[in-house]
Amino acid sequence: MKNVVVVGGGAIGLLTSLLLARTGITVVLIESSGVGRESSWAGGGIVSPLYPWRYSAAVTALAHWSQDFYPGLGQRLLAQTGVDPEVHVTGLYWLDLDDEAEALAWARRQGRELFEVDIAEAYQQVPVLGGGFKRAIHMPGVANVRNPRLVKALRAALAAMPNVELREHCPVTGFIQEGERICGVTTAAGEIRAERVVLAAGAWSGELLKTLGLELPVEPVKGQMILYKCAEDFLPSMVLAKGRYAIPRRDGHILIGSTLEYAGFDKTPTDNALESLKASAQELLPTLKDAEVVGHWAGLRPGSPEGIPFIGELPEHPGLWLNCGHFRNGLVLAPASCQLLADLMLGREPIIDPAPYAPAGRLH
Ligand SMILES: Cc1cc2nc3c(=O)[nH]c(=O)nc-3n(C[C@H](O)[C@H](O)[C@H](O)COP(=O)(O)OP(=O)(O)OC[C@H]3O[C@@H](n4cnc5c(N)ncnc54)[C@H](O)[C@@H]3O)c2cc1C
Repeated sequence: MKNVVVVGGGAIGLLTSLLLARTGITVVLIESSGVGRESSWAGGGIVSPLYPWRYSAAVTALAHWSQDFYPGLGQRLLAQTGVDPEVHVTGLYWLDLDDEAEALAWARRQGRELFEVDIAEAYQQVPVLGGGFKRAIHMPGVANVRNPRLVKALRAALAAMPNVELREHCPVTGFIQEGERICGVTTAAGEIRAERVVLAAGAWSGELLKTLGLELPVEPVKGQMILYKCAEDFLPSMVLAKGRYAIPRRDGHILIGSTLEYAGFDKTPTDNALESLKASAQELLPTLKDAEVVGHWAGLRPGSPEGIPFIGELPEHPGLWLNCGHFRNGLVLAPASCQLLADLMLGREPIIDPAPYAPAGRLH
């Protein structure tokens, strides 16, 4: 394989491009707007599913491989590009869970560090935590990544490679077919041919596959977040209760997320969500009552059944490879998902069993 077109410049398309380009392959990455402005920018960047024990073995396998990979990825990108993705290991407290026993049993089975802690201990470690919580479990090793910086670092790493071309503001409109085989894409600026095409267009991936008469079960799921700016040591750990969470960045920015809305491709932030997120923020961290909200945005997650991404070649159309549908976990899953796809495309021994993610039989 000499050349590849990658469609979509989110975390998934960027990292796929980087892994393929590092082997010497020529990569053209095509992005309809600027790279890294959609879900991969909008997300919270927790390097774990929100409730990891509620997911299938397929999601867990990708998450665990990636979690071990992230600190090294952050260091390598910083060294290469000077942009620090800030992989920040803060740990995470879950408060007043209904399925605490399941969580602890899952962690024991998986060999992951997740402990029941006395609530007094949680209040001691996180003094700004709101009153009234009764139980806590703690995973000390969980990190968050500053995803807008991650995509910036990935972009910089790619821009420095002579065998990579970044084409931004260039929407892909369809695929070039020779028989069933896919051998490139059509764009507003003309055709771009390649031996293989990788579709990594996040929530928009299904729209593009419709041009081939295929129904990919990936739909946009809107998520809104708000942002505060506090002192650097305000919040020492991520905290999560009733589906809402607070994420501290190293510089004292605190993200509060998120909503889960089925609203098509509309990305407009709403007043309802703002009020609801503020209420959650104040319940988790009451001192935020007097703090100003310094940011409020929405992104579109690529929602898929059970959050299991599509990774692999489309049997109906040789030459077309999918890496999409990561739903709520595209940032944590990205390293494993992109490595697995690269392994499959290059005919290498795959890092994990690819079967659960294979597109075959999962499209209509
Ligand atoms: C509020 C919120 C919180 C989140 N929190 C977390 C979290 O804490 N941890 C976590 O792991 N995940 C989280 N996520 C999910 C995560 O952000 C996504 O799963 C991930 O970013 C998906 O990456 P992607 O590259 O597939 O999609 P995107 O980042 O959306 O990238 C797809 C790209 O394709 C481009 N594109 C679309 N159509 C075309 C076309 N026709 N031609 C060319 N380019 C095209 C788009 O412009 C876009 O840049 C969150 C998401 C949201 C919205």
